[in-house]
Amino acid sequence: MLPTPAIAALCEKFPLMTELMALQPLSWFNPAIAPAAVALRDVGLTADDVADASARLARFAPYLAKAFPETGASGGIIESPVVPLPGMQAALGIAPGKLWLKLDSHLPISGSIKARGGIYEVLKHAEMLALDAGLLQPGADCSLLASDAVRAFFGQYAIAVGSTGNLGLSIGIMSARLGFRATVHMSADARQWKKDKLRSHGVTVVEYATDYSVAVEAGREQAQNDPTCHFVDDENSHDLFLGYAVAGERLKRQFAAAGVTVDAGHPLFVYLPCGVGGGPGGVAFGLKLAFGDAVHCVFVEPTHSPCMLLGVYTGLHERISVQEIGIDNLTAADGLAVGRPSGFVGRAMQRLIDGYATVSDEELYRLLATLEQTQGFRLEPSAVAGFAGIAPVLAAPQYQAQLEMATHLVWGTGGSMVPEQEMAAYVARGRTLLAAGDV
Ligand SMILES: *Cc1c(COP(=O)(O)O)cnc(C)c1O
Repeated sequence: MLPTPAIAALCEKFPLMTELMALQPLSWFNPAIAPAAVALRDVGLTADDVADASARLARFAPYLAKAFPETGASGGIIESPVVPLPGMQAALGIAPGKLWLKLDSHLPISGSIKARGGIYEVLKHAEMLALDAGLLQPGADCSLLASDAVRAFFGQYAIAVGSTGNLGLSIGIMSARLGFRATVHMSADARQWKKDKLRSHGVTVVEYATDYSVAVEAGREQAQNDPTCHFVDDENSHDLFLGYAVAGERLKRQFAAAGVTVDAGHPLFVYLPCGVGGGPGGVAFGLKLAFGDAVHCVFVEPTHSPCMLLGVYTGLHERISVQEIGIDNLTAADGLAVGRPSGFVGRAMQRLIDGYATVSDEELYRLLATLEQTQGFRLEPSAVAGFAGIAPVLAAPQYQAQLEMATHLVWGTGGSMVPEQEMAAYVARGRTLLAAGDV
């Protein structure tokens, strides 16, 4: 924790700090928001980089269809449906506008948003190694990487990552299927079933009694001591970020096919759960490229882990952690249990994210139970955080003139692989809280 005078100085300079430290759900709209045409230049990555990532995923589609038959129906393209949520909209009393849900909770292979960035980075690394070794010709379809000979070749290489759970699942399952030696360094928040699942895929899981930042550091160290090891750097990786960003053009096509208009007169508000920031940051980058100023992105974090809000609000980015201001980083939203944000994402996206909100664990349980009751979708606590961003937007003066024709899209980020018993306990907890009317 920072010394008391340093905290007092922060509170004086940044009035929201007091509420943040008191763990009160709050929202903050970014006064530095700028037009996409200007602010996209901050990112240091371009539409061409996203197009390159998209083309790479297309080259790998035949491989994925072969290695993961569950992706066969979509021809090896890992994508999730987007669905309207009339029942949930009525239950939450959201008006005007229309509420939709992006079901990344149901992405194949790892059942979370991490199937975008995590799998992309592993595929890109595999492609690079196979090209260098002459096992693959440039531009060729990658399904030949599924052969035993290529798997044996990848077995000379290792991949390591630090994770609160879902990134580990994506990286671990993908790496092991390609033949890599995969190690996942898991923070204390990681659920037991995620560790068990990884071990069943032949992944080495190293457990830590500490939080995410320590697990990431351990992965970084492992890779530094082993020249054959690639470290997936959740805090800084451009490849992860680009893998997530491909979602933007995909959503644009999905909305066009569904007859949902997004333009200056029909704004799109997208609500993204935020942990370290790579997932929501990358998706938001792709959305800004696809929809420009017609899309407004809002990040939502647990009241106990508001690292991105803290970093962007104070301008200190990765130089401050929630623990340093006395917040414990303990939350039921294990995918969001991150105390120190990605400085890369915080800076790159500083003028592109409209706002930030925080949500209590109790509210997450109520939201997941309400979603289950009204629409039958079962998401994990982290994955419903986006719903908590809607009320602050509806109340914000700057949006009032636009709300009539608005689409609200909650990015549902995980849950389809949660074991039945665990999911039943989540839903029961939410129903109990709802019945208690304890709001
Ligand atoms: C990882 C994760 C997020 C947030 O992604 P970050 O890149 O950590 O910000 C959101 N929801 C779920 C379910 C996740 O696993």
